[in-house]
Amino acid sequence: MNRKLSIPILGQGDPNRPQDVHLVGRYALGIDWTDGHGSIFPFEHLRRACPCGACAELAAPPAAATWPQDIKKLDDALRIRWTDGHESLLGYVDLRAGCRCAACTGVHG
Ligand SMILES: [Zn+2]
Ligand SMILES: [Zn+2]
Repeated sequence: MNRKLSIPILGQGDPNRPQDVHLVGRYALGIDWTDGHGSIFPFEHLRRACPCGACAELAAPPAAATWPQDIKKLDDALRIRWTDGHESLLGYVDLRAGCRCAACTGVHG
């Protein structure tokens, strides 16, 4: 195990820790982080972000591959079981780094 270098600063929110995970509409997952930031990830984006490597290669993922069967908050990752039976472990640090909102991508509207 390589330990994380970041030292938690207690008393304020951790940008890599989810406070609340919820569904957004019918095709996306929303994560509110403990630092107050909110991210929205379409299911297909989450499937492609799967660290196994094979999922990112899916050209046109079938519907079952982008539909979560269940989602579980683990200590440092989100576990998503897809209806096609595949399982993805998405680390919170990576998820937060993959936030596509305007503030995180530096795109100014
Ligand atoms: Zn995968
Ligand atoms: Zn963001």
